[in-house]
Amino acid sequence: MPEQRKKMKCSECGVEMNYHADKLDFTAGLEDPSAIDPDFGGIMEECHACPECGKTVTRRVT
Ligand SMILES: [Zn+2]
Repeated sequence: MPEQRKKMKCSECGVEMNYHADKLDFTAGLEDPSAIDPDFGGIMEECHACPECGKTVTRRVT
């Protein structure tokens, strides 16, 4: 596990969110081409879900 993968807190409830999945965003690179990972051809993002309210957020993996 990379050290950078820290827990996120829900902005609504303040509880720790569960890391859910990685996703590859091919559209974000259109706005920020320098962020594209050349190995994937897109931008890797982490999805986190709140166990309380079900809110999900994505965070770009750098
Ligand atoms: Zn929440």
